[in-house]
Amino acid sequence: MTTNTLYQIKSALFGLCVGDALGVPVEFLNRGTFPKVTNMKGYGTHNKPPGTWSDDSSMTLCTMESLCNGYNIEDMKQKFCQWMYEGYWTHDGIHAFDIGITTSNVLSQIRKGVAPKESGERDEYSNGNGSLMRILPLAFYVKNLTNKEKFTAVEEVSGITHAHIRSKIACSIYIEIALNIMNGQSIIQAYNSMKSVILNHYFNRENEKELLNFTRILQEDISRLSINEITSTGYVISTLEAAIWCLLTTGTYEDAVVKAVNLGQDTDTVGAVTGGLAGLHYGLTNIPSEWLQVIARKKDIEELCEQFSESLT
Ligand SMILES: [Mg+2]
Repeated sequence: MTTNTLYQIKSALFGLCVGDALGVPVEFLNRGTFPKVTNMKGYGTHNKPPGTWSDDSSMTLCTMESLCNGYNIEDMKQKFCQWMYEGYWTHDGIHAFDIGITTSNVLSQIRKGVAPKESGERDEYSNGNGSLMRILPLAFYVKNLTNKEKFTAVEEVSGITHAHIRSKIACSIYIEIALNIMNGQSIIQAYNSMKSVILNHYFNRENEKELLNFTRILQEDISRLSINEITSTGYVISTLEAAIWCLLTTGTYEDAVVKAVNLGQDTDTVGAVTGGLAGLHYGLTNIPSEWLQVIARKKDIEELCEQFSESLT
């Protein structure tokens, strides 16, 4: 893995968009009930052409574009609203689709101007994968910050829509693995070295019970679980476990995202969350070119990656 920032940004972003697009046609289908996805198909669940990415990529691109002008939570909120209401950073520039319930509720409050500063929902049942799926660009922004500064930023960005501690910790785990990969660690090293950093930061009396939800990720070796023990629903823990498991049990970008999508259920988000880290690790040149070629707005995404890379220097 090269440490060239622009290359890493493109690898992560296209990795995520391709994983999302592979999953879009089979979203919501249960494992084993659809023909195995091995290539970029279109239509199906959302009736969109091949290469169409969904909310996961849109919100990730909005996050990245906002960070081009520095770290500004209020600006990020407005970009997310532009996406949902005006089709900004959508696959066709017109229509946002596949919007999560929590995200939709919160963005409508923000649009009306009645949302509090930390606008996200904070009850235990608002722990879908809606912030995990869009957090990745933040890794590039926080990479030189202290752990305390880094996790504060991750929590604030998650908290725009998903403000419960579970979603915040899930995002912190994901960002920590991304940072380790960016620093040249193997996937196994990146996973293992994440554990102690996260436990050191989050383990205290207040979080003791909450961290039990992360036992399989933080205290055990999740790669040892069988496929039947891996769910792939829209619950943030389920999505994070599935993505890490796919990364640890495969050896190429292609195998990781194909495995992720074929788990079924929230296929596009599990594909996107897996694909972001797989792209970052294996690199843009190892993402199948026939998949990249059909990605909607490929040129626009490339340009945004360049703009983001320049903004970081
Ligand atoms: Mg989606």
